[in-house]
Amino acid sequence: MKLTDLLHSAKPTVSCELFPPKPGTALLDAPAVVGRMAALHPAYMSVTCSAGGSGNGGSTTADMANEVQNVNGVPALAHLTCVAASREEIRASLEHLRLLGIENVLALRGDLPEGGSFPLPDGYHHASELAADIRAFGGFCIGGACYPEGHPEAPSLTADIEALRYKIDAGCEFLTTQMFFDNNELYRYLYRLRCAGIDVPVVAGIMPVTNGKQIRRIMALSGSKLPARFRAIIDRFGESPAAMEQAGVAYATEQIIDLIANGVVHVHIYTMNRPEIAGRIMANLSEILA
Ligand code: FAD
Repeated sequence: MKLTDLLHSAKPTVSCELFPPKPGTALLDAPAVVGRMAALHPAYMSVTCSAGGSGNGGSTTADMANEVQNVNGVPALAHLTCVAASREEIRASLEHLRLLGIENVLALRGDLPEGGSFPLPDGYHHASELAADIRAFGGFCIGGACYPEGHPEAPSLTADIEALRYKIDAGCEFLTTQMFFDNNELYRYLYRLRCAGIDVPVVAGIMPVTNGKQIRRIMALSGSKLPARFRAIIDRFGESPAAMEQAGVAYATEQIIDLIANGVVHVHIYTMNRPEIAGRIMANLSEILA
């Protein structure tokens, strides 16, 4: 199934992100994690892909996407990063995904790996170049990433939105956002996208924060702002794992309910491979998603 069939509908969807085991290692407990996540009936599951070095775009992402779709019957969205990949490697990854029947790919540049010189001489500079190659390859529904608070490398949000247009023109049919903790950031961003003439479906990425240490790492990577209300929760419960989990699930649930109430009906949960957390959020939304 092509995800645009779901994402052009007004019926709310919740999907889940998984990450595969490190490249070169076996799937180990990954099938169990996929199975438990699939039992929550997400609309689809995405599988991340490492940005650099060996295994990039390689078998672990494809294997896990295979497990999602062909073993558990949930549509899979395979992430594909290009910053450290040659065009031949990308082509091989696409051929592999096609053989597995995976129809949806999230076209990403990936974070610049430390050391080495990237991009490769014949390689990719931006996700839009990858999207164009995937479109030329044919047969895939292509998505891209977007950043409600601006990509950290972009000189301004305006410049980032201008660059986003290249992705759409190159073939991205939907976008998934970076996590955000203040829905008003997303509403403002969506307004700016519409003003810029970008009208593809946008899936809101929600990260349930379940421990204080995790959030400090995330903030450093994503540059997302923390609203005062959320900072107070971390200050109060950050060192108390059970309380922080409960508060993190409640906060993510509230964010999702507010999004759906305001017409942002497609939500993607960054699950950190924790079906029990995704399950608690899904249970809180059972009547809303019915
Ligand atoms: P790009 O679209 O290439 O943008 C990167 C920067 O270049 C931006 O600042 C943009 O404004 C600018 N830019 C883009 N095009 C142009 C242009 N033509 N001219 C000038 N500037 C331009 N990382 C992983 O390694 N693996 C994953 O699986 C993964 N999944 C992700 C999923 C989502 C939903 C999101 C939001 C991010 C994900 N990331 C993942 C992180 C992502 O790879 C990084 O944020 C990376 O730094 C940028 O990737 P991109 O595809 O947005 O790049």
